[in-house]
Amino acid sequence: MENPNKPTPVVNEWARPFWEGTRQHKLLIQQCKECGAYIFYPRMCCPECFSQDIAWVESSGRGTLYSFTIVENNPPSAFLQDLPYVVAIVKLEEGVQMLTNIVDWQSTTLRCDMPVVVTFEKLNEEFTLPKFRPV
Ligand SMILES: [Zn+2]
Repeated sequence: MENPNKPTPVVNEWARPFWEGTRQHKLLIQQCKECGAYIFYPRMCCPECFSQDIAWVESSGRGTLYSFTIVENNPPSAFLQDLPYVVAIVKLEEGVQMLTNIVDWQSTTLRCDMPVVVTFEKLNEEFTLPKFRPV
């Protein structure tokens, strides 16, 4: 049985700048111009004050490992060739959290709160995925 291709993100119109940013190896998040809150995932208005006056800003790309799991086994899927892989929630310096993968981790003992930094992995011509590696 042949493995299916990896799924690609479904892109809302208001999330398009995020994916344009990753193609240029920039991690963009939103910031509310009214209250200053950083926002991720992309939204049309601020979840803190409901202002629609929000801008795209570049994240430092640095953060800490908030939570993770190491996937050791998987039914036949597009991810079978990646085993073992790490699914993680990373908390960026700006305070927002991002569901992602940790890469280049094999020689490290992963632990919560360890520092990580963004790295970019090209999926195809349209999508480059932001992932993180231990610092
Ligand atoms: Zn706000």
